[in-house]
This record gives sequence, C-alpha cells and structure tokens, in this order.
Amino acid sequence: MTFDAIILGGGPAGLQAALTLGRMHLDVLLIDSGVYRNDPAAHSHNMLTRDGVPPSELRAIARDQLHAYGSVEVRGTVASVVARADDGTFDVTTPDGVERARRLLLATGVRDALPAVPGLAPLFGTLAAHCPFCHGHEYAGRRVAVIGAVHAAGRALMMSRIAGELVVLTDGADLDEADLTMLDAHGIAVRAEPILQIGSPNGEQRVDVQLEGGDVIEVGGILTATTFAQSAPFAEQLGLDLLPSGCVEVDVFGRTSMPGVYAAGDLAHVPELPMPMSSVLTSAAAGLTAAATLLRELVVVP
Ligand SMILES: Cc1cc2nc3c(=O)[nH]c(=O)nc-3n(C[C@H](O)[C@H](O)[C@H](O)COP(=O)(O)OP(=O)(O)OC[C@H]3O[C@@H](n4cnc5c(N)ncnc54)[C@H](O)[C@@H]3O)c2cc1C
Repeated sequence: MTFDAIILGGGPAGLQAALTLGRMHLDVLLIDSGVYRNDPAAHSHNMLTRDGVPPSELRAIARDQLHAYGSVEVRGTVASVVARADDGTFDVTTPDGVERARRLLLATGVRDALPAVPGLAPLFGTLAAHCPFCHGHEYAGRRVAVIGAVHAAGRALMMSRIAGELVVLTDGADLDEADLTMLDAHGIAVRAEPILQIGSPNGEQRVDVQLEGGDVIEVGGILTATTFAQSAPFAEQLGLDLLPSGCVEVDVFGRTSMPGVYAAGDLAHVPELPMPMSSVLTSAAAGLTAAATLLRELVVVP
C-alpha cells in the first residue's frame, strides 16, 4: 500500500505528528528505532502537566493513545534509506522491505557529543546537564560548575538565580574578554586549569572535579555544553537544505526545501531563530504544525 505519510521518528515530534494525522484519518506509518535524545535522563521537566515524568512514560502514554486511531501504524524498526521516486512519492527502506508514502515527515532528532572530559559521560542526565531549563532547578542551592569556555558567561548567568554558588571551569581554554568582564562583574569564579577527572563518590549528590595542579573542586551539579549532529542520514540522502547549526532548514510550517518533505523536532529549526529550541514541548508543537501543514498540502491544496 502507499501510505499518506511516513513519519520517521517516535520521540515527541513524531508521536505528536502521528496523533495529529491519525485524528484526521490519514494512513500513517510511524517508524521508531527506539533511541531517544533524552535517554540519559530519568526525568523530563518543563512541560505543563508532565513536569518530572520519566521520558519513557510520556512516550508510552502517547503510543497507547495512538491505538484509538486505526489508520496509524507504529513500527519499531530502523529506517536506512529514504529516496524520492519519479512520481513524487517517497520510498523508505527498512529491514522488512521498502515502504512508500505520498508525504514524508522527518522527526529523527539529533545526538549529543560531550566535551572530552574524563568521567563526565556517566554523569550526563543526572549530576551533569546541558540545559538549565530542563535540569537546572534540580541543582538549586548547590555549588554548580559550568564547564567549557564557549558562551560561559551566558550559561553561568542563566544559573545565577538557581545555584548557591557558581564556578566556571574552562578546561584549559581561554575565555573571551566580554565573558571575563561579565563573570567578574557578577563575582563568578573562573578556573582555567585543564580538568583531569570528574567523579561522583559513592553515588552521592556530589561531584569532585580534579584539576591539573592538584586542586579538587567539589560541586553539586555540572552544566556542560554539548555539540550535536543529525541522528539519521535522511536529510543528507534527500539533499535538504541545512542551517549552519547542522539542523534541517524549515519554514514556520515545518516545510523543508523539498516539496512533500516536512521536518519537526530537534533535527530542524527555522532560520529566524539563532538556534533550535530543543525541548519536548517545542518538538511536539513542531510535530503538530508540520503534520497540519502536511495534511493541508495533501488533502486541501495538493
Ligand atoms: C540528557 C537530556 C535531558 C533532556 N531533558 C529534557 C527535559 O527535561 N525537558 C525537555 O523539554 N527536554 C529535554 N531534553 C531535550 C529533549 O530530549 C528533546 O528536545 C526531544 O527529545 C526532541 O524530540 P524529537 O522527537 O525531536 O527527537 P527524539 O526524542 O530524540 O526522537 C528521535 C526519534 O527518531 C528515531 N530515529 C532516529 N533515527 C532513526 C532511524 N534511522 N530509523 C527510525 N527511527 C529513527 C529515534 O528512535 C526516536 O524515535 C533533554 C535532552 C537531553 C540530551
């Protein structure tokens, strides 16, 4: 059969898109390889009515509610290749074979890479976080280390109302003058020594950061930057326009540079924003918008 739409990705963006299209009785196949950006985090925050729920619970409820819509099929498998056929439909290759759809909605998200600091990775999602909106409050009142020199002052100041005390650890990198001035003006300490090791003794809510030279900085939480990249090769396979962030360029309706292909969630952003607004709620909202646009362009104004 030819589906009306194939949604690639079953995180908040893809699940919401499936709900929106299911409610409009489109024939939809959602393909989900089961790897999510917030896998390292036990709890998800900053979403109304769902503050603090495990991300897996949120997805389980969403998948369960999709059962009410008989035209939606959710398949747990990995898509490998996406191609546009001559008639304008799209072929998606999975281990089970090739599926065809009139429209494609990409919601495959991004993957994070952490700074190469020994001991940081096991703490990511608990005592180390990249997003103050998502996990900053959990470090309230504690001494918090902001790791890295890029935008260090901005990241530190975001935590200034929450943390009991702040220290910026540049890990051997130089801060730019503007950041130094701002941190100094707010009395935020800066340590420039390379970080040798990070560890949390006995699973306590304490992190020891060992600096070159022998000092150990004790903190109760870490805010670290990550770099991210597309999780899946589909934007590249289709030749979609990307932004300097590495995200798929979309307009405010979730349309990519290729007619019939829509994108939502962390993998995409609109050029008017300096960066993708990565969160569960904004991803779900983008999924709804892209799905509604897809429906309109498939059914109302083809
Ligand atoms: C540690 C951490 C904690 C976070 N905490 C919060 C928080 O508290 N609150 C908040 O709002 N946000 C939080 N975020 C951000 C949030 O996780 C993302 O904004 C959100 O998950 C993006 O949703 P998405 O649907 O775009 O992508 P994802 O949730 O990453 O989903 C991507 C989907 O694509 C699928 N996929 C990828 N490749 C393929 C393929 N080849 N074939 C088939 N399927 C594929 C995956 O299996 C998955 O289903 C956190 C992020 C991190 C890293």
